[in-house]
Amino acid sequence: MSDRYLDFANSGVGGWLTGALGLPRPAPLRRRAEAGAGLVGPLLLGPDTDGRLATTLGRLAGTAGQKTHVEWSPDVRYGGLVFDASGCGDAAAAQGLYRFFHQAIRSVAEHGRIVVIGTTPELMADAEGEAIQRGLEGFVRSLAKEARRSIGVHLLYVAPGGEDAAGSTLDFLLSPRSAYVSGQAIRVAAPVATSEPGAGHKGRRVLVTGASRGIGEAITRLFVADGAQVVALDVAGAAEGLSALSAELGVDALALDITAPDAAEAILADALARGGYDVVVHNAGITRDRTLARMEPREWDSVMAVNLSAPLAITRGLVEGGGMRPNGRIIAVSSLSGIAGNMGQSNYALSKAAWIGAVRRLAPKLAGQGITINAVAPGFIETQMTAAIPFAIREAGRRMNSMGQGGHPVDVAETIAWLAHPASGGVNGQVVRVCGQSLLGA
Ligand code: NAP
Repeated sequence: MSDRYLDFANSGVGGWLTGALGLPRPAPLRRRAEAGAGLVGPLLLGPDTDGRLATTLGRLAGTAGQKTHVEWSPDVRYGGLVFDASGCGDAAAAQGLYRFFHQAIRSVAEHGRIVVIGTTPELMADAEGEAIQRGLEGFVRSLAKEARRSIGVHLLYVAPGGEDAAGSTLDFLLSPRSAYVSGQAIRVAAPVATSEPGAGHKGRRVLVTGASRGIGEAITRLFVADGAQVVALDVAGAAEGLSALSAELGVDALALDITAPDAAEAILADALARGGYDVVVHNAGITRDRTLARMEPREWDSVMAVNLSAPLAITRGLVEGGGMRPNGRIIAVSSLSGIAGNMGQSNYALSKAAWIGAVRRLAPKLAGQGITINAVAPGFIETQMTAAIPFAIREAGRRMNSMGQGGHPVDVAETIAWLAHPASGGVNGQVVRVCGQSLLGA
């Protein structure tokens, strides 16, 4: 659905009027389709500290598609700033952050990216080190709110041993693919399995549930565009959308209700017949909104079944039955409702918050089999689901984030594609919000 206010605020008259009235002016985001791969200008690296990421940062010069600078200049508009604070162990060292960003923050171009790199706080040698590293979250989230509306600001915690695995995440954060992701603290550790250098999604087998429309359709389209072989699953009632997608993209369609009693066995049997999956995306989800006092038992039960019990059973079936291939990826679509809670969504919020517990619990177990499991938590995304929300609540949902707008299904798909990448094996057990840094649950 189109965002008329965003279009108006960026028109000639609308820009003038919103400026004169002091109204917010969200900037159209620069996504991969419009932008290609790289940054909008050179990348400025923070000054040498005691950080551990010099080699990884050096490699970025190639991947960000832009020149790398190490000296700030007032005459340059930077596409990205990266500051390695991984060696920051006390308040005095943290002053380097102030000095660097105080000077450089105004030099970041529209659609720019800022990444601060830290060390996983619990792995610091002493309490002050842990405190300062944890403090980086507050710093980054504040910077994300101060930066212009199209600029993403992130914290990347890299555990010792995870330096080489940080590349795919830095790449994502510095690219237009992360257009609607901001204010996130992402942890990278040693990868669960090795991947071929340069490997991508080409030829990987991917299962997407709820694939016929909305976010699932966008995930399917993106994986197909990146060369993956996708199996698009949806309920029989969505057969029309599914067969249209299958005819257009050449994906295999699987008409199946994931809550059917034999769904997990059927999906495993199908997976084994295909030689297993590299990536499984649990996207199918439903809402049955009503305040708890008025909620019918079937509304509670159906949401729990589709959003939680079925994908958990399918995960168990695939993992225990050999349906996942080495260096496999499982990604669940959670929700900001699960983080912040939402009026009339006690059933939905429980089912979505449960995935936060599920990925944390399953991550170390699956790592032993070379598989990662992560979740994305979308905020307000422009789909049929959100088009059905009453106007005033919809407008509030759209604007209450640092980017002043709703995300697009492709923003969720891009985040999933990064987590699913063969080189992202160092990201495990995480929940990444795709919400333009929503004020809710922050
Ligand atoms: P959507 O447009 O309603 O699409 C969901 C798809 O899942 C539909 O095709 C639906 O089929 C299918 N599905 C439902 N129950 C199923 C079942 N038992 N077995 C197989 N497929 C089933 O939803 P969306 O907005 O794209 O959302 C996708 C995911 O993102 C959901 O998990 C949702 O909770 C989550 N999410 C969305 C937003 C947002 O702003 N849109 C925000 C946070 C999280 P039917 O035709 O039967 O409905």
